Amino acid sequence: MQYSVNEKGYYGNFGGAYIPEMLYPNVEELQQKYLQIIYEPSFQAEFQQLLEDYVGRPTPLFYAKRLSEKYQTNIYLKREDLCHTGAHKINNTIGQILLAKRLGKTRIIAETGAGQHGVATATVCALMGYECIVYMGAVDIERQKPNVERMRMLGAEVRPAVSGSQTLKDATNEAIRDWINNPADTHYIIGSVVGPHPYPDMVARFQSVISEEIQEQLLEKTGHSNPNYVIACVGGGSNAAGAFYHYLDQLDVKLIAVEAAGKGVNSGFSAATTYLGKPGIIHGSKTLLMQTEDGQIVEPHSISAGLDYPGIGPIHAHLFDSGRGEFFSITDEEAFKAAMMLSRTEGIIPALETAHAIAVLENISFKKDDVVVINLSGRGDKDLMTYITRKEEFMSK
Ligand SMILES: *Cc1c(COP(=O)(O)O)cnc(C)c1O
Repeated sequence: MQYSVNEKGYYGNFGGAYIPEMLYPNVEELQQKYLQIIYEPSFQAEFQQLLEDYVGRPTPLFYAKRLSEKYQTNIYLKREDLCHTGAHKINNTIGQILLAKRLGKTRIIAETGAGQHGVATATVCALMGYECIVYMGAVDIERQKPNVERMRMLGAEVRPAVSGSQTLKDATNEAIRDWINNPADTHYIIGSVVGPHPYPDMVARFQSVISEEIQEQLLEKTGHSNPNYVIACVGGGSNAAGAFYHYLDQLDVKLIAVEAAGKGVNSGFSAATTYLGKPGIIHGSKTLLMQTEDGQIVEPHSISAGLDYPGIGPIHAHLFDSGRGEFFSITDEEAFKAAMMLSRTEGIIPALETAHAIAVLENISFKKDDVVVINLSGRGDKDLMTYITRKEEFMSK
């Protein structure tokens, strides 16, 4: 269990709960109750039922025949893009809203950058009849209109964060302020394996359904539950944590994490955290993060909004540090080309985030009988404008 969290919330040297004193009561309540609540039979029954009937699980594990021929190996795609709302994020928000209900909370807050986590949160709040407030940087509200309208249509209130750069970290500060002021009735739904303990572990457990299903589906299709490789893109790292979870201690399975290099790791416009980052504290946990000499957070860049994050979940910092995970970074252009390629090879238009995981196929030499599973974290509909407007720039080269 060398790769699981310990009782203090650490993965090796990373994790913990570095929070202002006024947040102690909220976070401590979660630390003390989360495991007991989420493994209660009645919780599990309700969770599994919603995953099945509402999210549409189990998602298929698809043998990608033409992609396999192209790379001369055996490639399976785990179809999280077929989840309700179009990505894996809903697995976690379903889990957390059920937890909020059992904690007796009546009000939900969340922060969002690109709006994907905001939409997944607004969705489950509508489903369960909860009040929902989503904090979002004022700049992001301008940039992400369709998701803002989706959240409003689902009944959520989108509150602009107008301090600082008016983006994700400012929205996070506003959400934390709200939580401090409303400790009794409010649950804060965090969207990835980031934040103070127990969030990284709790979110990983909710997303672990992905690798649980992969094991069963691979066993049925190939006679073995372990592949040679599991590949996933990493923003904060929740889809990767879910896809890796049941393979963490299976050392015959190579875990490949793919970060966004943006315009290139040394261009100054990148989100390749393990390549560029140093240990530091962000959103309440100790992890690797992109920062200046004096510890200021460096603005990340990626063509995909979901990977545009200056840190990485502590579990991934530990996988990197220990060598258990192998980390690659993929540029905007490589990801864009991989999205076009997958669309025409398999008839699946991936999210730009996911396209990073596809692009890494170019960087690894597989054996003919290797079994490779790629976690297809989301569908590309939300990225259509980027695919249309940047085609000339990337595809003419
Ligand atoms: C949000 C998002 C990601 C990145 O988040 P993780 O927590 O790293 O999984 C990846 N893919 C899609 C489709 C997303 O919406």
